Amino acid sequence: MSYQDDEEGVPFDGNPSSFPKDFGYGPFDGDQEIMSSSGDQKPRILLMGLRRSGKSSIQKVVFHKMSPNETLFLESTNKIVKDDINNSSFVQFQIWDFPGQIDFFDSTFDYDMIFGGCGALIFVIDAQDDYLEALNKLNLTVTKAYKINPNIKFEVFIHKVDGLGDDFKMESQRDIHQRATDDLNDSGYDQIHLSFHLTSIYDHSIFEAFSKVVQKLIPQLPALENLLNILNNNSAIEKSFLFDVVSKIYIATDSTPVDMQSYELCCDMIDVVIDVSWIYGVKEEQDAAAFDEQSFSLIKLNNGTVLYLREVNKFLALVCILREDNFDHKGTVDFNFLIFRNAIQQVFEFRNKCQATQMTNSIGSPVVNGNSVMAEGLSN
Ligand code: GDP
Repeated sequence: MSYQDDEEGVPFDGNPSSFPKDFGYGPFDGDQEIMSSSGDQKPRILLMGLRRSGKSSIQKVVFHKMSPNETLFLESTNKIVKDDINNSSFVQFQIWDFPGQIDFFDSTFDYDMIFGGCGALIFVIDAQDDYLEALNKLNLTVTKAYKINPNIKFEVFIHKVDGLGDDFKMESQRDIHQRATDDLNDSGYDQIHLSFHLTSIYDHSIFEAFSKVVQKLIPQLPALENLLNILNNNSAIEKSFLFDVVSKIYIATDSTPVDMQSYELCCDMIDVVIDVSWIYGVKEEQDAAAFDEQSFSLIKLNNGTVLYLREVNKFLALVCILREDNFDHKGTVDFNFLIFRNAIQQVFEFRNKCQATQMTNSIGSPVVNGNSVMAEGLSN
């Protein structure tokens, strides 16, 4: 594998294994907070589940770069933890880590406030434990939340599946799915849709699952996917991901199916680039970021595949996989990338304009039409 890194004067200020909190990621230049589909200022993700199901570990591993082994020493959650993830222009949300033993019949909780502005509710079930109690709690939580806010996306993480064999994993998922939907039907809530994800902090499945959840909260997703498709078609790219660099969540990908190996490769590439940038980057300013708009990285694998990373903005990176033969016309790929980056910028600007309109005109909500944004962007 040969590695080429071209990040002139791009110092990385932080610790490569635990950078996010101190990474200096402020709001994107002139960027406002992202609106949720419910019109709330910040899409809020609630993380709930029984005690010791793994909620704090998920949060720490995905957003604070804690290594999975370190989570063994985490104290169990016994209060609501409000964690603002403000480290990306596109991914801005809160995680509310609820202690498992919250009593829903306790009238001191302000459920309207808790569920009202919530974009997605992730319920974590420990697959290595007896899950009957968790299923009861899931039913209670989901029905309560739905009554207050029917727009919430309900996501069930069947967690800690690293300890399970493939057959048992699938069987657990089928069983949990069946029981959870039966319970909802029995309580007269068959209209509630639950999505299920098999997750573990010991591999990339937790990042993949979080990516899917976050994508549901991005109203501009169709526009981003379309842009990636157009880029791929015109540049002979096999697969491309738009990554939030800090969390390694992909906020969009093209419409070809995602295979875990490709995703893992791209995640690893981001780690390599961040680490190399941190170690060898020229440190001129104290608060300099890991990338600037000139930076890119190219990794040639020994199977004739090329990984190509380009910075889209301060927070987002495009990571592409393409065949080495097709990389002969790198100039075309680079030219197309510039148009792509321009179009992404327009999606951001359009979003900001919509937010401003909504702020000044509270009647009606702006519609983000990906196609019209893209047509404009690509005709430039
Ligand atoms: P919380 O009370 O729901 O916040 O649970 P914690 O995050 O404190 O996790 C409880 C225990 O589960 C810890 O010892 C973690 O190391 C462990 N854990 C969390 N996620 C996983 C996972 O994906 N696989 C395995 N095997 N253990 C996990």
